[in-house]
Amino acid sequence: MKEIKNEVKDNRVNILELAKDAKVIGISGHMRPDGDCVGSTLGLYLYLKKAVPKAKIVLYLEQPSDIFKDLKGYDEIQSDFDGDETYDLFFALDGEKSRLGGAEKYFDSAKVTVNIDHHISNRGSGKYNYVVPEASSASELVFDLMEEVYVDVDIAKAIYTGIIHDTGVFQYSNTAPKTLNIAAKLIAYGFDFSEIIDRTFYEKTYIQNQIMGRTLLESMLFMDGRCIVGMVDRKTMDFYGVEPKDLDGIVNQLRVIKGVDCAVFMYETDTLEYKVSMRSNDTVDVAKVAGFYGGGGHKKAAGCTVNGTFHDVINNLSQSIAMQMKAYDSKSMT
Ligand code: AMP
Ligand code: MN
Ligand code: MN
Repeated sequence: MKEIKNEVKDNRVNILELAKDAKVIGISGHMRPDGDCVGSTLGLYLYLKKAVPKAKIVLYLEQPSDIFKDLKGYDEIQSDFDGDETYDLFFALDGEKSRLGGAEKYFDSAKVTVNIDHHISNRGSGKYNYVVPEASSASELVFDLMEEVYVDVDIAKAIYTGIIHDTGVFQYSNTAPKTLNIAAKLIAYGFDFSEIIDRTFYEKTYIQNQIMGRTLLESMLFMDGRCIVGMVDRKTMDFYGVEPKDLDGIVNQLRVIKGVDCAVFMYETDTLEYKVSMRSNDTVDVAKVAGFYGGGGHKKAAGCTVNGTFHDVINNLSQSIAMQMKAYDSKSMT
């Protein structure tokens, strides 16, 4: 039987113990929030509102995609970081504090901080840290720390949404027996999970499909077809009227091309600046490649922001990727 790796119990955080005397509690997640970030933060937000009714709970996130608008609490998300409140307790989810963007200052000034994450690159940036790289998602970890008496259908929906997004609907190798056990508990609360999967994960607008099609058409294979790169520049984003969140899913489509071991997708964020997303199989540890450029993530899915022209960026990344591929090839020959 496969070893169940994500059964880490030693550094668990007792959320309700920390929250019991707090008057104001803040929660946030990483910039450009994805499904796991939205699901885990909303799940914790709803849970704390219920379990600690005396406290004021505030959830800060950059404006998430409206595909998540049916999750309870979505309309209460604060995307304005102008205030200067001091929090008794502040949670950073699905990333280290430096990825909180505008909400980092609340984390820095909070009396007690908690960091719950599953990124291998995160060493823990809170007073209390529950960082489990083997876990499928921050949502799984947040659920793990919840007392189930307070969990209800809305919390279950948020957590479930986060898990399906980070596991590619239970497909990626971060899916463990424990992940599925949690998912089983969640769907027992009774909600239309197949609708959530379709509407938040698979459904794309016509424009999103068009820009994905165009990116695939213009993509380039390199390293004898073992790597592929796709790119969207500012001009194209403006032409289609799309935002970064409309580009979700393109890198996964590049990844499933037969023969490709490592897929790179990048879009222009500023003059000579690109956000890079990488996906791989066992051949390349993309967290290491991203880490080299100040980013991070997981072995098979990672990201970073890199400066330079498109060609500079891809030349640099391809050197790091090639080094790892060579090492992998020589190891598998011995
Ligand atoms: P992305 O390709 O942006 O979807 O990211 C893939 C994975 O790497 C996700 O788990 C991200 O949270 C993580 N990631 C992306 N960018 C960074 C970064 N700059 N630092 C740390 N982790 C990142
Ligand atoms: Mn995330
Ligand atoms: Mn995540």
